[in-house]
Amino acid sequence: MSLRCPACGDSYADRWRCRCGAPLEFSDQPLPPTETPEDASIDPRNGLWTFEDFLPVGADPSDRVTLGEGYTPMVDVPEWDATFKLEYVFPTGSFKDRGATATLTRAMEVGADRIVEDSSGNAGAAIATYAARAGIDAEIYVPAGVKESKVKAIRRAGADVVRVEGSREDVTDACIDAVTDGEAWYASHAWNPAFFAGTATMAYEIAHQRDWSVPDAVVMPLGHGTMFLGAYGGFRALRDAGWTDRVPKLLGAQAAGYAPIAAELHGKDAVVGDNTVADGIQIRQPVQKDSILDAIEATDGDAIALSKEAVASELKTPPPRRVLHRTDVCSRTRRSGGVPKSGRHRVGRRRGRPALGKRAEGVAQKPSVRLMRPKRPLRSSAPGADSVSPSGLSGLSASTTVRPARSQYGHASRSS
Ligand SMILES: [Zn+2]
Repeated sequence: MSLRCPACGDSYADRWRCRCGAPLEFSDQPLPPTETPEDASIDPRNGLWTFEDFLPVGADPSDRVTLGEGYTPMVDVPEWDATFKLEYVFPTGSFKDRGATATLTRAMEVGADRIVEDSSGNAGAAIATYAARAGIDAEIYVPAGVKESKVKAIRRAGADVVRVEGSREDVTDACIDAVTDGEAWYASHAWNPAFFAGTATMAYEIAHQRDWSVPDAVVMPLGHGTMFLGAYGGFRALRDAGWTDRVPKLLGAQAAGYAPIAAELHGKDAVVGDNTVADGIQIRQPVQKDSILDAIEATDGDAIALSKEAVASELKTPPPRRVLHRTDVCSRTRRSGGVPKSGRHRVGRRRGRPALGKRAEGVAQKPSVRLMRPKRPLRSSAPGADSVSPSGLSGLSASTTVRPARSQYGHASRSS
């Protein structure tokens, strides 16, 4: 499928970004021919590829680069009155496999024989692993100073690790130089629309796992927006197909000090800090910033910045971790300092309406970021205030403001 630019309207057979500089999209969002999901043959044994009718890649199954990914568990966590989608239950340990299977499938379709990506984290590991599966050479660009342990998964997949001196932006620039020089195809988790088509499958799974109902809200980590925009696209496609009736509110958790979306919504004072714990989402300049803000506006969503202390504290909290471990959380995650979790919150009274009893999904990635506390309002009162709203998510509206971190998370109730 061809690509088009949402900013200027130009279209291309394939290109890593538009000549005008904007990220490209697929020219169409495929939708299934069946009017209801019941008419479709949805079979989790095919993993996320059972949603092939929604995917702009992989029309020819022989192009698909797959390791059986998808259909991660959804687990109720009563302590949070929430449900978590365990997005670390993937071949390489993160939701980035959704994007990697779709991106490497696209690489096969366009005949790429060498790909590059810039990431020392889970995106690098996922792309390297799926490139190996495809038999395509891969070079992964990382900062020169990154620890060897961090790039082990990339090396183990057989990819070349290219260390670049300078800032994180210099790493990206070096990678893009290789692309513009014609040396390789850019399998970017930040730029490539195939990656976002892949992460959209999380929405299809959530809807299916809830018997084709949509939660009121979905809480996600928010760095480049790889998961966030994927969820937005996926829930919109479901609605446009007529399989669901609406798109949930999308709520993003950013790292304080690296929170450009929250800063845009709430001002710079609301995002001060240096959250070095949530290092997987330390993105100061997300490529898709405008699209993320559009998604938040369209869904009446929000984004906040989480402090280092808030995230670290959540990672140490024993009760929910115990609950999640009982549900087959991988031990590697536990050793690395905490169980990522995702949650759905019972939504109570909102704008005068009676409680719906509906729930919001939350999603975790690895490295983990503990997300917002359920049963806690985000609405600001006085700095340091720690009021509890009886309505749970009632504070999660476009008018939400951010309180200082401690009060945001209500450590006191969880510190035992
Ligand atoms: Zn353009």
